[in-house]
Amino acid sequence: MSTQTGMKAKLAIVVPCYNEQEVFPICRSTLCDVIKDLAGKGKISEDSFVLFVNDGSTDSTRELMNEAAQSSNNVWAISLTKNCGHQSALLAGLMEARKYADVTVSIDADLQDDVKVIEEMLDRFAEGCDIVYGVRSGRKTDSFMKRSTAQLYYRLLEKLGVKSVYNHADFRLMSRRALDELARYKESNLYLRGLIPQLGFKTASVYYERKERMAGESKYPFSKMLNLAINGITSFSTRPIKMVMHLGFFVMLVCFAAAIYAFVSYFNNDVERGWTSVILSIWFLGGVQLISFGIVGEYIGRIYTEVKGRPLYCIEEFISHGEENRDVREKE
Ligand code: UDP
Ligand code: MG
Repeated sequence: MSTQTGMKAKLAIVVPCYNEQEVFPICRSTLCDVIKDLAGKGKISEDSFVLFVNDGSTDSTRELMNEAAQSSNNVWAISLTKNCGHQSALLAGLMEARKYADVTVSIDADLQDDVKVIEEMLDRFAEGCDIVYGVRSGRKTDSFMKRSTAQLYYRLLEKLGVKSVYNHADFRLMSRRALDELARYKESNLYLRGLIPQLGFKTASVYYERKERMAGESKYPFSKMLNLAINGITSFSTRPIKMVMHLGFFVMLVCFAAAIYAFVSYFNNDVERGWTSVILSIWFLGGVQLISFGIVGEYIGRIYTEVKGRPLYCIEEFISHGEENRDVREKE
């Protein structure tokens, strides 16, 4: 495992933590062992590290973390000022890690994801992949509820045209240059799982069995999960707006059918006076309103995508005759 310069890659394992005091000690020792083991095998440099991000915990997570960072060279700790949520905490960790490390692996503190496949991820990285997804081969340990809702959700995402990796959460390897590209996305409704496939680097997947939480309880109550799910759709798709417009056209069609029915009834003289005009205006105006909503929504959808200001491209390679000839004025 080496970078272009022939040196071993420096790995940062990024771990967002929110009230994880029960699981922290085992998480710390497991991940430190992973670093030691991989460094021993020559796959990463000796100064690789675990970067914990304390997401405004209210228990003793912060103290445990800081103590670990003070007593070990391979443990780094960042504390956010308040609880910013899993996705933001993860992003904070990744953005800091890219300043110091060549490659990162993000993983949850509860060790539900199999740390053994990190080695495989690094092998894919050595083969030239910039992003490697950890994918669950099954969901045996999830409850029936979580499993079926998750599957339904992924299918819905696909229908709405959102690209995502099936059964992949936030256990993934990213190279520094992939993170540098991610840094150009400035949006605040963060759904990393949807964003990262948009970067378009060479990717690979590794498969593992997801385990039970090592200790403590899930920090994702239903409300947070729902929030993440809605984010996943609304950040990547304006198709729900289109659906309003289609509904409008459908109502207009129904209106024509209703018109025929109303006229037939009118000429058969079996209706009250006034009924025909009332019923027709209701259907007609309903259709017109829905279509108008849809059109306004189309514009709002465009404004929404503009406002996010996502980069339009991402450069893979730049070849010129010697770097010294290139004017590097705009180096960040
Ligand atoms: N987490 C976080 N901030 C939050 C909620 C969760 O940093 O507001 C972290 C948490 O400590 C864990 C990861 O996000 O490392 C995933 O959370 P959890 O395992 O509770 O989610 P689940 O596996 O139950 O979906
Ligand atoms: Mg978990």
